[in-house]
Amino acid sequence: MRLDKLISESRLRKLAGERYFERGLKYFRGGTVARVRSSEDGIAARVIGTEPYVARIWLAGGALRWGCSCPLGVEGAFCKHLVATGLARRSGHAGDRKAIAEMKRVEALLDPLDRQRLTELIADRAMWDEPFYEELLLAARAIQDSSKQPAKQRKSTIKK
Ligand SMILES: [Zn+2]
Repeated sequence: MRLDKLISESRLRKLAGERYFERGLKYFRGGTVARVRSSEDGIAARVIGTEPYVARIWLAGGALRWGCSCPLGVEGAFCKHLVATGLARRSGHAGDRKAIAEMKRVEALLDPLDRQRLTELIADRAMWDEPFYEELLLAARAIQDSSKQPAKQRKSTIKK
């Protein structure tokens, strides 16, 4: 649960700044965080304010990353939607059953696809999604680095 350690309330406040933190807190309390998908290393949700936006906080290479589809979020700011999503995570939101069921359906659809089709889907997404593109680069570098390590160390990397 390393993600939870990185998104303490004071950290969220610091990342967003007082003004956006307070707005995010209002959103969270007003129940605008919906369709939560949550895993050990990340959380994504639809936050419905004046318009619905998709906010996501996750860990990549041990670092905290975030993204939101709102105008501030796409500029890389830690917006009120991200605050609301972070607070939902902190409140122990394990994810919506419906959103999790939908994700399982997506997984089932992906399962029979061949490797080339999957690669195309991922590359196409990365083309238009800068944070995802960076995440892929990080993951690719991590895999490269771990393949350079001696076999003994590699084993422990895989275990984690
Ligand atoms: Zn936002």
